[in-house]
Amino acid sequence: MIERLAIIGVGLIGSSLSLALKQAGAVGQVVGYGRNRRNLEKGIELGVIDRFEASIAECVADADVIVVAVPLGAMQPVFAELKSNIKETAVITDVGSSKASVVAAAAAELGDDFPRFVPGHPIAGTEQSGVEAGFASLYQNRRVILTPLQQTAADAVEIVDQMWRHSGAILEYLSVEHHDKVLAATSHLPHMLAYALVHHLSHLNDHDEIFRYAAGGFRDFTRIASSDPVMWRDVCLSNGDALVVLIEQYQRELDRIAVAIRDNNADELLKLFGRAKTERDSLIGNC
Ligand code: NAP
Repeated sequence: MIERLAIIGVGLIGSSLSLALKQAGAVGQVVGYGRNRRNLEKGIELGVIDRFEASIAECVADADVIVVAVPLGAMQPVFAELKSNIKETAVITDVGSSKASVVAAAAAELGDDFPRFVPGHPIAGTEQSGVEAGFASLYQNRRVILTPLQQTAADAVEIVDQMWRHSGAILEYLSVEHHDKVLAATSHLPHMLAYALVHHLSHLNDHDEIFRYAAGGFRDFTRIASSDPVMWRDVCLSNGDALVVLIEQYQRELDRIAVAIRDNNADELLKLFGRAKTERDSLIGNC
């Protein structure tokens, strides 16, 4: 049971965690911080937080666990502000979609408290943002990856591990580098493809017609292009090296398809599509 939980950034990810922990009876009081007072008032109205504070320092005072759930680009200033007022036994964790940049920011700002920081990333979300988008079942049977370092305190890892288990999640452990490489391929690259596709089609002359006749497959594939632009700008800037390599490899794959089509190379197209179908069916199933 976490007596007092501080959530910095009461949006989709932070509020869903709070709702899940409240539903599980795994948290006492939840205190929120954000820049927009309306969002925080809404958070109280929806039962996401019990109260909010006007500064990060006040929000984290006496907190047992502090969850930093702001966009990646805002992590470092948040760490800088919270360190002045945390109690010795407090545990700090984050939910950022890439890990190396967050670990570097925490290492730069937290000083002696760095071993109390447990980097984390829930592999769950929607294309919606803000407190009203949160819901208690978001993490049910979804993976949460923790990437503790050698110097991370074992008791801090255990507390964060238990917190996520109470929210319904399945815990996995990866190194920071491995996490960023895997997530660049499974999450970050697909978002780039969706953004690029919608952006590209919206610039064609007859784009109204194209979107009018968009069928289910197009909607499914492009749903993630409705995600928050600030969040995805920050993901690109913080995991850029891994992502650019994948984008370049993907471009070569598209070139290969274009050449096969131009050459009327039916065998090549069949081979490529057949292999992709087999791989997807065996890895993901018919979902
Ligand atoms: P969100 O719904 O937009 O929530 C972010 C919250 O952070 C907002 O409520 C915002 O409130 C606050 N915030 C923004 N900038 C801030 C700043 N400079 N200082 C303090 N508070 C700030 O976003 P989210 O989807 O929950 O994403 C939060 C984090 O989770 C990101 O790091 C993202 O990488 C990670 N994540 C997202 C997903 C997903 O699918 N969405 C999945 C896994 C992980 P105010 O505007 O009121 O300050």
